[in-house]
Amino acid sequence: MKLTAGTLADIDTVATPNYDRSKLSCGIVHFGVGGFHRAHQAMYVDALLAQGEAFDWAICGVGVMKSDARMRDVMAEQDCLYTLAVRHADGTWDTRVIGSIIEYLFAPDDPDAVIEKMASPEIRIVSLTVTEGGYNFSATTGEFDETDPGVVADLQPDAVPATTFGLICAALSRRKERGLEPFTIMSCDNIQENGHIARSSFTTFARLKDPALAEWIEAKCAFPNSMVDRITPATSPELIDEVAERFGIEDQWPVPTEPFTQWVLEDHFTLGRPPFQDAGVQVVDEVAPYELMKLRLLNASHQALCYFGYLCGYRLVHEVVQDPAFAAFLLAYMDDEATPTLLPVPGVDLAEYKHTLIERFANPEIRDNVSRLCAESSDRIPKWLLPVIRRQLELDGPITLSAAIVASWARYDEAIDEEGEPIEIVDRLKATLVPLALRNRTDPTAFIRNQDVFGDLADDERFVAEYVAALNSLHANGARATLQNLIA
Ligand code: NAD
Repeated sequence: MKLTAGTLADIDTVATPNYDRSKLSCGIVHFGVGGFHRAHQAMYVDALLAQGEAFDWAICGVGVMKSDARMRDVMAEQDCLYTLAVRHADGTWDTRVIGSIIEYLFAPDDPDAVIEKMASPEIRIVSLTVTEGGYNFSATTGEFDETDPGVVADLQPDAVPATTFGLICAALSRRKERGLEPFTIMSCDNIQENGHIARSSFTTFARLKDPALAEWIEAKCAFPNSMVDRITPATSPELIDEVAERFGIEDQWPVPTEPFTQWVLEDHFTLGRPPFQDAGVQVVDEVAPYELMKLRLLNASHQALCYFGYLCGYRLVHEVVQDPAFAAFLLAYMDDEATPTLLPVPGVDLAEYKHTLIERFANPEIRDNVSRLCAESSDRIPKWLLPVIRRQLELDGPITLSAAIVASWARYDEAIDEEGEPIEIVDRLKATLVPLALRNRTDPTAFIRNQDVFGDLADDERFVAEYVAALNSLHANGARATLQNLIA
């Protein structure tokens, strides 16, 4: 049966919205309706609606990229309904049809409709999952990239806006003219201090376009920080077939996700917000401790497992973590080295959080790739792992495992595995890093003397000694034996 508003009442194989969608109105406009938004924010709003709350906070999705035309078509054919398949490690699924998105606008078709929607008083939040690149920051300077062709075009005096920045600033300008308060801009992208980054991007763009508007945004607009977490892989063709076979639902774009979900949100809104706390969102004054916990436990653990895992011959994340030696290594890294560097995290049982992480990584239904975790390490290691090492050096605490993780990256970047097979290194600094790694055997600190990545860490004798010991062991004994020694 095709999934549409008309067939909803006939679906009895999975849960469907128990609320009357015709009674909903939009309070949120969301840019970047991809897998993650549909597994996360839209699911939280759906949960509120199912409890009889937030009927004036339904979502209008917006796509700005040409590639979003497919989402436009699917949303139109399915009345914005889709199936969310929560996949448990034992192979069972919790599946429901989500009804919280009630409208979808494709900006290239009608930019003014998008602007007018956001300029209407009913819209009080504009939220974003437009990927890390969607904030238009230069990776090298950290500054807003004014030379981006889309931005350049949107900055022309009579431009018809096409970027997120152009569209949202045009809507804010209309609201200012009409004497309406600005909406809250709520980033849900996986970026540290995502609210601050969003504030900086949007006000920088506005300043270039209309300085008075920029001042108004600076003074009046809220940009809450948030920490978001739910592993949501891309939808595979197999999932579409499986949803049809298991449930008799023809859904062109269902969403697969894991059982775990977390959203920690700073309580800073210009025009109110849905009662997110009633759906399990942690609404807090300060997101930073949660962010640190996630980056140093979840994200750094991904780096802890990926190079050693690859060198041991694993290609899928769950296979690595189902290996007891790896689970022990990850827990030891988290307990002994990462945890002492965290801030107190209110309301979180860290021991439970860490064990849950191991379970999440070991979920075979998610099928995450080790090579995906190894990609762009020069962006990841400095943000997630090196801060742990620096803090432990200050505390005079243990760094053996963290230094070994760095050594495993240096060994991986030699681009040849233990069987002599080539490794495909995906990293924007590949041209610098691979030649440095190839000097590992004759000049064991060459890799970590790269100051762009490591700063002055190579000046620390304790770090160098631990790092060189692990690197030598990787060369002499291999990854498996090195790992066993580390957890012995
Ligand atoms: P996706 O590819 O399914 O969707 C991304 C959406 O962003 C698409 O609609 C795309 O058109 C849009 N987009 C991309 N670049 C843009 C730009 N420059 N301007 C405007 N729109 C743009 O990806 P996803 O899985 O939904 O992930 C999106 C983001 O969500 C991630 O980049 C990350 O920041 C965050 N996130 C994802 C996960 C996950 O597991 N997938 C987990 C936590 C956070």
